[in-house]
Amino acid sequence: MTAAETRLPHALLFAGPMGVGKRELADLLAARLLCEAPRQPHEPACGNCPSCVMMASGQHPDYRLLQPDAAAEGEDEGESAAAGEAGDKKKASKQIRIQQVREVEAFFHVSGHRGGARVCVIDPAEAMNPITANSLLKILEEPSVSFYFIMISHRWRRLLPTLLSRSRRVMFAPPPDEQSQRWLAERQLADQAKWLPFFGHAPLAVAEAARTGRLKALESVVADLLKPQEALAQANRWENLVKADGALGMEELVSTVQKWLFDLGQCAVAASPRYFPQQNKTLSAISQRLSLPVLIQAQQQVFQLRAWSNHPLNARLFLEDLCVRAFRPLGL
Ligand SMILES: [Zn+2]
Repeated sequence: MTAAETRLPHALLFAGPMGVGKRELADLLAARLLCEAPRQPHEPACGNCPSCVMMASGQHPDYRLLQPDAAAEGEDEGESAAAGEAGDKKKASKQIRIQQVREVEAFFHVSGHRGGARVCVIDPAEAMNPITANSLLKILEEPSVSFYFIMISHRWRRLLPTLLSRSRRVMFAPPPDEQSQRWLAERQLADQAKWLPFFGHAPLAVAEAARTGRLKALESVVADLLKPQEALAQANRWENLVKADGALGMEELVSTVQKWLFDLGQCAVAASPRYFPQQNKTLSAISQRLSLPVLIQAQQQVFQLRAWSNHPLNARLFLEDLCVRAFRPLGL
């Protein structure tokens, strides 16, 4: 281990919006810390040593990933209402369980398998409730020269102050759009760069949505919003969309409607749309039909619905409610 590495803090916090590469960098850093080949400080992991091979296969004995069970199963935020209605599927936890932290504690207290560094990545740190976070804190307070925690947080302001004070925060921000466009183009996703504003200019969020097939669903939601139809007919279309396989989660659907309402408000006061800048003309045309006070009211009402979007009792009724509230300013 080089001097530069031993100066790395025991606990790092990678903070910033989703989809800007925090986890990717954490994984690269973990591989680098565990790599057993001689490396210069600026060099990444070698990719060939036994340790790198184990990392690549996801089987490194000195590496732990702490994440909610739901993330491990590849579910995304706002699981579809269809699963909730079926009722027979036990839902995986969206929280990191106390038992998982205890396992890391045991891992911390035994010596490493390969005599080098050991790394634990926590993704995301806000998936720990106060009890879980406190038991992690106890481990963070113990000194260690070769144990590294890398916490990832999309909402770091929600973390316990004690957790923040015991870690070194590294802030991440979205790259400039030109850079993201190049990055997407290299992945055959040049056409999807138009989604960057929608995803807060986070290129990895766009790529992830493309990979999971959600972009297709979003594409059709946005097409609907640009040609709004009567509320109940709209609810019907969206019901099919959220019930389809690999579908859009209800929460993402509500947040898309929120973004659309926000942009309509922008156009109504002759400002530029934030999320759908390419649709400026269409949105401006729609905004001419609406009453601004009713639009503001609709924005507030849809905002309130969002809290329920993760577990609506009845997907169909929820969607009807959403469409009625959202389309009221248009008189639909
Ligand atoms: Zn290596």
